[in-house]
Amino acid sequence: MKKLIYCSQCSKKNSYSNKDGEIRYHCKNCKSIHYQNPKPTATLICIKNDEILLVKRAFEPAKGEWSLPGGFIELGETPEDAAKRELKEETNLDGEAVQLIGSCSHFNSIFGDVLLLGLTMKIDNWENLIPGDDAQSAGFFKLKDTPIMAFECHNKILSIYKKSLSKLSI
Ligand SMILES: [Zn+2]
Repeated sequence: MKKLIYCSQCSKKNSYSNKDGEIRYHCKNCKSIHYQNPKPTATLICIKNDEILLVKRAFEPAKGEWSLPGGFIELGETPEDAAKRELKEETNLDGEAVQLIGSCSHFNSIFGDVLLLGLTMKIDNWENLIPGDDAQSAGFFKLKDTPIMAFECHNKILSIYKKSLSKLSI
């Protein structure tokens, strides 16, 4: 987590202590409270028949490991906008977000607190699949037989999806 040593309002030194029930940076001089928020991501569930699309990461962290496609939501984007853009950047596929299925919060030593939002996607044409951007390759896995992925939150979002399927089939 980035340390907010100085107050962005008055430039005096911040305190780091309990404020409104949480440990926060706040300024005793001008009374500003410096709230910090997680960075949201769109994390994608793309299903082709009974298989899920995973991408192999081209860069650290977790280079060479499987993960769900996706990435950080940019300023001004909805989760659905980001899902569509990340899908195109990482896989060259066109598609639309169908449903927000769940979320997972996680602390990342590079980006700080990350809030992963899992979205199911409808893909227009699977033939356009070309791994790109920060994916080195793509693969399809039977839902029953998915590899352990690089990030705990990806495993969690996939398990939320699998549970949602088993509820539907009851
Ligand atoms: Zn201040």
